[in-house]
Amino acid sequence: MSRVFNFSAGPASLPLPVLQRAAAEMAEYGSSGMSVMEMSHRGKDFLEIFRRTKQAVIDLLGVPETHEVLFLQGGASTQFAMVPMNLMGNVGKADYVNTGSWSKKAIKEAKKFGAVNVAATSEETHFNRIPRQDELRLDPRAAYCHITSNNTIFGTEYHYTPETGAVPLVADASSNLMSRPVDVARYGILYAGAQKNLGPAGVTLVIIRKDLLGRAPDTIPAMLDYRVHADADSMYNTPPTYAIYILGLVCGWLQERGGLAAMEEINIRKAQRLYDCIDATGFYRCPTEPASRSRMNVPFTLVNADLDATFLAEAAAAGLVTLKGHRSVGGMRASLYNAMPEEGVAALVAFLQDFEQRHG
Ligand code: PMP
Repeated sequence: MSRVFNFSAGPASLPLPVLQRAAAEMAEYGSSGMSVMEMSHRGKDFLEIFRRTKQAVIDLLGVPETHEVLFLQGGASTQFAMVPMNLMGNVGKADYVNTGSWSKKAIKEAKKFGAVNVAATSEETHFNRIPRQDELRLDPRAAYCHITSNNTIFGTEYHYTPETGAVPLVADASSNLMSRPVDVARYGILYAGAQKNLGPAGVTLVIIRKDLLGRAPDTIPAMLDYRVHADADSMYNTPPTYAIYILGLVCGWLQERGGLAAMEEINIRKAQRLYDCIDATGFYRCPTEPASRSRMNVPFTLVNADLDATFLAEAAAAGLVTLKGHRSVGGMRASLYNAMPEEGVAALVAFLQDFEQRHG
């Protein structure tokens, strides 16, 4: 086996035991005589996979009775539209905190359905930090307040939950959901594309407070109405069955490892190790403010950018791949989602030190 350490921001690496289990069950699932991909989504076997997966999500995240768990399609990008389409209602305005490219996309989409108040932004410092609670200029009459809980491109993450009073808090948690415990009750909606911490691309996890269902206007297409999906338990149409199955295996793997509190400890350790290495020298630089740093996506630059290509080539030769930064930021980015083992971070740190010795 020649698997590399894949630092991709998403789709990202999956736990090897999950891939091996899926491989073993690929052609024949249990005694069904067929692959999960070939099953009816309304058949007994798939319904059992679905039930277990949904329960595992509820257990891992501690989803309270007040909230519904949905498995949708269209990625987080579809949520950028579904949130305002369902929640703007007669209020017609919402708060958004702008912390980077994904926030901007969410804002752009929301403006099609109502007025957007940018409650805070870190654009003036190149999105290198998360605005503090006391910087948020919140509208108490907003339909909801939207944040991006982890900024995949700029490498910043909320380390507090914004207090929005009676205004429902909505979070795009695509790149940090299930990397740490979260108090779901504090949120009106939490959503995430699966392809970072949860599973393969193709399924989008949406956790929504039940009283926010049914707020969409009658003219909304059925597929974009949260109520329709909730009433049908995510089976209004054919759900992404195989992606849900893999997500279920990932949840099982997380439970075996001790759940989200245990994952958080590991994720803190991994991120700290890498940031410490970057901060220890003038050869590398991390552009983000320490208090806002993401545990999931670590952007860094080589002070001498002429070495970028050599760095990436040598890293790849050492089995450390997909370290190139996002095209809008440049430099490097190492994504350390749940499935990145501590040995992967140790190997990256050793490589960083060795590369500096040879080129510094
Ligand atoms: N939000 C965030 C924070 C993301 O990182 C991404 C994808 N990288 C998206 C939204 C878009 O997700 P999708 O491609 O699933 O639509």
